[in-house]
Amino acid sequence: MAEAPCDRLSSTLMLDEPVSSVRQVSAQRATALASLGIKTVRDLVFHFPRRYVDLSSVETIASASIGQACTVAGVIHRVQLKTPKPRFQLVEIHIVDETSILIVTAFRQPWLARSLHEGMRVAIAGTVEFSYGYKRMTNPVIQVLDESDGASGMIISVHPACEKVSATLLRRLIKNALEDVSGLIDPMPVDLRLRFRLMSRQNALRAIHFPTSMDEARAARRRLAFEQLLILELMLMQESMQRSLKGTACAHVIDGPHLQAFSEALPFELTLDQQEALASILFHMGSPRAANHLVLGDVGTGKTVLAGFAIAAAADTGTQALFMAPTELLARQHAQSMGPLFDEAGIMWEVLCGSTSQNERDAILAKLAAGTIDVLIGTHALLEDSVVARACTLVIIDEQQRFGVDQRECLLSKGEAPDALYLTATPIPRTLALALYGDLTLSYLKMRPHNQANRSTKVLRRADQGIAFDAAREALSRGEQVYVVCPLIGQTSSENASPKGRSSKKDVEEASSFEEDAYEFSDISIETDNDYGEADLIAAEKEAAHLQAGVFIDYKVGLLHGRMSAEKKQQVMDAFRSGEVQILVSTTVIEVGMDVEAATVMIVQDADRFGLSQLHQLRGRVGRGSLPGQMFLISASQAPSALERLSAMERTEDGFELAGYDLSLRREGDILGNRQHGATMLSLVKVTRDGAMIEAAHDAAAAMLEDDPLLTLPEHAPLARELRLMFKDAHVRQGG
Ligand code: ADP
Ligand code: MG
Repeated sequence: MAEAPCDRLSSTLMLDEPVSSVRQVSAQRATALASLGIKTVRDLVFHFPRRYVDLSSVETIASASIGQACTVAGVIHRVQLKTPKPRFQLVEIHIVDETSILIVTAFRQPWLARSLHEGMRVAIAGTVEFSYGYKRMTNPVIQVLDESDGASGMIISVHPACEKVSATLLRRLIKNALEDVSGLIDPMPVDLRLRFRLMSRQNALRAIHFPTSMDEARAARRRLAFEQLLILELMLMQESMQRSLKGTACAHVIDGPHLQAFSEALPFELTLDQQEALASILFHMGSPRAANHLVLGDVGTGKTVLAGFAIAAAADTGTQALFMAPTELLARQHAQSMGPLFDEAGIMWEVLCGSTSQNERDAILAKLAAGTIDVLIGTHALLEDSVVARACTLVIIDEQQRFGVDQRECLLSKGEAPDALYLTATPIPRTLALALYGDLTLSYLKMRPHNQANRSTKVLRRADQGIAFDAAREALSRGEQVYVVCPLIGQTSSENASPKGRSSKKDVEEASSFEEDAYEFSDISIETDNDYGEADLIAAEKEAAHLQAGVFIDYKVGLLHGRMSAEKKQQVMDAFRSGEVQILVSTTVIEVGMDVEAATVMIVQDADRFGLSQLHQLRGRVGRGSLPGQMFLISASQAPSALERLSAMERTEDGFELAGYDLSLRREGDILGNRQHGATMLSLVKVTRDGAMIEAAHDAAAAMLEDDPLLTLPEHAPLARELRLMFKDAHVRQGG
């Protein structure tokens, strides 16, 4: 049936109506949906399934192979809520099919004990384990099989749900919403749809929620992911067009006396990579266009010193630089390492952090406003309104992936079209970075100033952790020092845990081309791997006490974590640096910013709780100097996949390669340094896999804006409208 244009328009407008206009969404349900971030019809139809349970490939429990991901179906025989420790609950579910019994353990979902009952038919998707004589699954996807629940055919989509809004209810409501928006206008220009063989938006929305085959689900995901990317690319490009219109950029003096003096003060020669990067940075700073330069280099490749040169160029120009780092530790470390060089080069500097006292702060801000300092080094404190430079022409962001776009924009707004220099250890392939950041210029640091072949990594089960502590003792007896890293601070805290999920081999294969990229809908939630609960995790406070009292009695053990005051942290760090404390037990606060040469051993407890990139960052703390380093990764997990993932750390020192294994790289928000946009706008994009698609979207966006910079042509009108809605959305989110 052909739809009249006005119907198509009203269907399209319907997308931005409140979700309560959808059939069966009562006020109460609307509130519950809001807790999932669903407020409008658009939010609802763009609430995509987390995974699919493919009933066409159900196996019997007896035939399901141990260690493999699979789907089984059966009847619930027993449901039990257990409390093995105070404040630690799990639900145990026994499932039987005609062949055998499966025992399911679900952590952190006590409500399952209420929603599941004996006799229910369920499908269970997860990885099969075997212990104490039974096949088991830990935190699998559990889907109640019920003919009336709106699931069509053999493939059941499983949407991110919560206690009040079940996946079943979501499916029903999404089905209703899809009827309401039926006939909606497709914002994707027809030429792109033809060129990339993309489904229409309407078909894709139907097929991603209710696919008739996995192939159809993949095609739908491909179309919608491309749309997300195209919109993001258009947005980034338009943003940067606007920025370049805003003011006149500064052409910096790049061969002045401060720079010369800074270079002479350096106690080392730059590596070839550093020299190349520096030439590129200075070239762009010297040009009258607003530079946007990203330096990518693994931990320890020496990115900071490049920032020092850029600052010196600003000082030579008679203008100012702002240098922002994500933690106070790091900001102070930069001050410590570069301050003396700046002093020698006659560059005036100050440090501003959250802990800076009011008096000191006033004095620093006065100097910044008067132009008597050349650079202000600091944390997020630099973003405050009171931070006003006399003439800021250079903004530097260290570990830029840790900041959101709004923070980046805020710092940039402290100057009139300032040059921007970003430093990051997140390994992004060149083509991808270019595509993601639009008009950015890039330098890669591959070489290391120190020869780091001198470092070994070993994965150990908890039972064998004595090996690690023996190595630590030996190192201590040589006068060296030891880090012990724990995922938690105290017993009840989950701060800093940063749990990372599984990653199977198929996750790391990059798509060879956008046309044939294969996407597996197998993103099991991150808890799946953890066959033990929070309560079993080693907490830093306890570990420190335990090590001091029982293991390293004759040495001094220090404790460092994020909940301590900045002053206390500094004290502990100083004590460790001076050797007064020999063993430092900490959370990941040491990930960036600790540089103690005598520290040669690092022991990471519950290492499976960390992302590989994060472990690699941690590893950068040992074996930095002339002494060989040793890293021990200890895991209590019995899951083979957890140990397999960690063993990648033994095999390679290449941060780029590790990131490929790592789920953290697939958190697009991190890649973009763009938490607000990234998380919501690119929910379907997997950066490691979709490189070719990202580039295609980038090129398509660039071509489109070249012909029609403001997207005013009629064929671009629906897309321009989408973009406006997204922009609005992003700003609302930042505000909240
Ligand atoms: P990252 O890239 O991880 O930020 P840093 O800038 O902190 O690395 O540098 C790591 C260490 O290497 C620092 O102690 C720094 O002084 C030192 N370093 C940097 N460049 C060189 C070089 N060319 N030669 C010797 N040491 C260097
Ligand atoms: Mg650094």
